Parts: sequence; structure tokens; C-alpha cells
Amino acid sequence: MNYKGWNEFEIGSLLFPFEKEGEKNVEKHAEERDYNSDNSYTASTAHWRVEKPVYNPEGCIHCYFCWLYCPDSSILVRSEKMTGVDYVHCKGCGVCVSVCPTNPKSLLMFNDHESEEAALASWPKKEEKK
Ligand code: SF4
Ligand code: SF4
Repeated sequence: MNYKGWNEFEIGSLLFPFEKEGEKNVEKHAEERDYNSDNSYTASTAHWRVEKPVYNPEGCIHCYFCWLYCPDSSILVRSEKMTGVDYVHCKGCGVCVSVCPTNPKSLLMFNDHESEEAALASWPKKEEKK
């Protein structure tokens, strides 16, 4: 297959990311879709992230606010439960952390190089109401 450079596309070009079934793929989980090579699912688009959201399932109430507000569809929900973050596409914007309503939050931003174990070990305690 010949790949085009970014400046070789016609203005207004559309890329169709699926081999077949078109929009029906959208009803499936991302890992089950029939992507072709014109997609950003199989390529990382998160290289410039400097902080990442870490998920702590302990206090999560599965409200899906993070999933709803993530501008990059990087919150993973399976079998009606929040299950984590897709770090191949998450840009580290922090919106998911802002909207998480639990106390303490169930998503917090950490340096992108921090291990999940270290992040979970430093999780803040519940804040008492004043
Ligand atoms: S940091 Fe931003 S891109 Fe990453 S999961 Fe949260 S809302 Fe989505
Ligand atoms: S917003 Fe917070 S509590 Fe709600 S599903 Fe996401 S991590 Fe869980």
C-alpha cells in the first residue's frame, strides 16, 4: 500500500478507518472493530503526554463521568464497569480527573513515568467535611 504524506491529501478528504461494515463498527468495542491502515487506533497518538491519569478502583462508583467527558475516548468501560485508561491515546488533559466526583478522586494525574504501584501507594485519604 502507498501511504500519502499529510500535504498530499485533497482539502476536505475523508479517511474511512474500517475495512468493512462501516458505521456498524462503532457499535463494537474498539479492540473488536475491523480497522484498516487509515486509522489512529493502532498507532499511538499520545507521545506528547507529560502527565497521565491513574485509576484507583477502590472508591470508583462507575458513574461514567470520566468516560462521558474524555475528549479522546480513552476511558475504558467494559461490562458496565470503568476498567482503566487507554494510554495509547490518552493525551493527559486531566478532564477525567476534574469531573470525577468521589472523595478522594478515583482518577488522579501523575508524572507519565510514575509506576501505577507508586501512584496507588501515594493516593490521598478521604477529606473530612468541615
Ligand atoms: S487525561 Fe484527558 S485524554 Fe486522558 S483519559 Fe483523561 S480526559 Fe481522556
Ligand atoms: S468519574 Fe470517577 S467515579 Fe466516575 S467512573 Fe470515572 S473514575 Fe469512577
